[in-house]
Amino acid sequence: MKKGLIALAAVAAAVLAAVLLYDGVAAKEAQQTFFAMDTVCSLTLTGRDAPAAAEEIPAQVTALETGLFSRQAESSAVAQLNRSGGGTVSAQLAQVLSETREISEKSGGALDCTLGGVSDLWDFSGEPHIPQAAQLQAALAHTGYQKLRLSGNTVTYDDSAAVLDLGAVGKGAALDAVREALQDKRLRSGIVSLGGSILLLGRRTFTVGIKDPAGNAGDCLATMRLSDCCISTSGSYERFFEENGERYHHILDPATGRPVQNGLVNVTIVAQSGLVSDALSTACFVLGVEDGAALAADCGCEAVFVAENGDVTVTDGLRAALKVTNPDYRIVN
Ligand code: ADP
Ligand code: MG
Repeated sequence: MKKGLIALAAVAAAVLAAVLLYDGVAAKEAQQTFFAMDTVCSLTLTGRDAPAAAEEIPAQVTALETGLFSRQAESSAVAQLNRSGGGTVSAQLAQVLSETREISEKSGGALDCTLGGVSDLWDFSGEPHIPQAAQLQAALAHTGYQKLRLSGNTVTYDDSAAVLDLGAVGKGAALDAVREALQDKRLRSGIVSLGGSILLLGRRTFTVGIKDPAGNAGDCLATMRLSDCCISTSGSYERFFEENGERYHHILDPATGRPVQNGLVNVTIVAQSGLVSDALSTACFVLGVEDGAALAADCGCEAVFVAENGDVTVTDGLRAALKVTNPDYRIVN
């Protein structure tokens, strides 16, 4: 499993030393690496409560996956909703669904959390293959975010065959829950990375790299200096297969049910909310540079768009923080 964002946590030893020697008292640092939400996750926390907090996070993320968001885990709330065609959900899931639906609406349906039936046909996490056109059309008939209705904590589907899939927002939503759980802990700084979504905590500035799709693991095309925010990335090179010389990736255009082909290879979003950053990375990938940048602005977020030909477009608020580090790429706006 590749990671689109690379947390260069140990970039400046001097900065790290300054963080660790606050007030002359050595702060504790704790690290964890674990597998959850179908991806490699890692975290580094500093501060008095760092060791205890770091111990708790992997179990918390796994519980969110198996208890709430995963479509595959039979016991999850999403799987139960899909089986029963609706029901009453926890306030936490209702909030996630409501925010996801709102972004789906703002994106004009570019984000569609009812694409489950279509994703199943492509089977990116299992045995990926091109679905037959007729199957795709049949599955598409049961998609559309408008079919998901929320009234308080009660969820109903207009179409009993619609399949809820929170794959595009789950990791971001999990980061929001992690941040909430860490709120009362005595921590100085932290970085929590769930695959393509990262949470930065505290006043410390971190260097986060955007992976170079053409490079080796660990190669970046650009770096960003950021603090106290969430960053999510969607890349066409994260999950894909090749058939008949063509490449098929996992970010789908809800209008066609097929992988988006608009010349983009990566979209990265910086936001306060994890859910918003994750949802927008997918939505803006589908929308392309112009409409994607407009959506990001509408949601008060910053964005970086990377095209196949090396063109990089960055929104104004992120320009100073972004440095293109690979000469094959250039900022074009
Ligand atoms: P990743 O899961 O690799 O972090 P994304 O956040 O971009 O990447 O989410 C991609 C996942 O979201 C897909 O695996 C699929 O389950 C789902 N998905 C794909 N296209 C869309 C879309 N247009 N709207 C909503 N969900 C989507
Ligand atoms: Mg996403």
